[in-house]
Amino acid sequence: MILKNAIDSLASVLFPAPCAICGDTLTSASRIPVCGPCLDELESIPDPVCACCGRPLVAPSSGTAQLSLSMQAADLRCRLCRSNFYAFDRARSFAVYNRALSEAILLLKYEQVTALAGWFGARLARLALEAWPDWRADVVVPVPLHRDRRRERGYNQAELIAKPVARRLKLRLDADLLIRTKPRPAQLVLSRTEHWKSVRGAYATRGGMKIDNLRVLLVDDVLTTGATLDACSRALKKAGASQVFGLTVGRVRSGMAAAVYAPAAQSIRQPS
Ligand SMILES: [Zn+2]
Ligand SMILES: [Zn+2]
Repeated sequence: MILKNAIDSLASVLFPAPCAICGDTLTSASRIPVCGPCLDELESIPDPVCACCGRPLVAPSSGTAQLSLSMQAADLRCRLCRSNFYAFDRARSFAVYNRALSEAILLLKYEQVTALAGWFGARLARLALEAWPDWRADVVVPVPLHRDRRRERGYNQAELIAKPVARRLKLRLDADLLIRTKPRPAQLVLSRTEHWKSVRGAYATRGGMKIDNLRVLLVDDVLTTGATLDACSRALKKAGASQVFGLTVGRVRSGMAAAVYAPAAQSIRQPS
């Protein structure tokens, strides 16, 4: 402990980098450029969640004890999943897409902070093992960007996160299995309907490749409406995938307007 404190204070002298989210000086040695208080702002997804899509389920105002009993069944499903709405089999997210998380994800998107991707990847790998003790996947696939977007940005943030997930789960990573064939509309913020429309039929396996009985673990940064994971899953299943699991770092609170956390890259302070 004393040694750790000594290392931390040495680190703050040697590397007086500010927290990439709030700008405060980092006082402890860490692999990620984010301070403790900012990390503390990350909120995990509140239980209970839909066993299928991972959406938090609202507890009825009465009968809380009853709900916790029925939760033991571990097979609570939301209205959408009861009607098999999504093409993916399971989805889970690490945290609520709140202000701290949206800024952390912007760091991944525009600053390529790979240490942060490693940190999130470790949490997603653990989440997969905890949420689905008996699940099996053959390959980890990041949700792809359209090639024009990827060229513009130089990398795909979902791939940055998927790499450490694959490494930790000892699975193969295939960043070329799925491609985005239709570009995203130019406007920054899309309504739910526009979002669903924009991704419908927007993904395909490369060269129409068949992937019979492959079990795929899809990785993305944020789940907004589930439309992206759904569209990717449809493409994978059309090509023959038997199961698709989805993992995302963030999840927009159900019913929360996406515009509240629309990108504002200029508000993030740059590490000096
Ligand atoms: Zn901070
Ligand atoms: Zn559901």
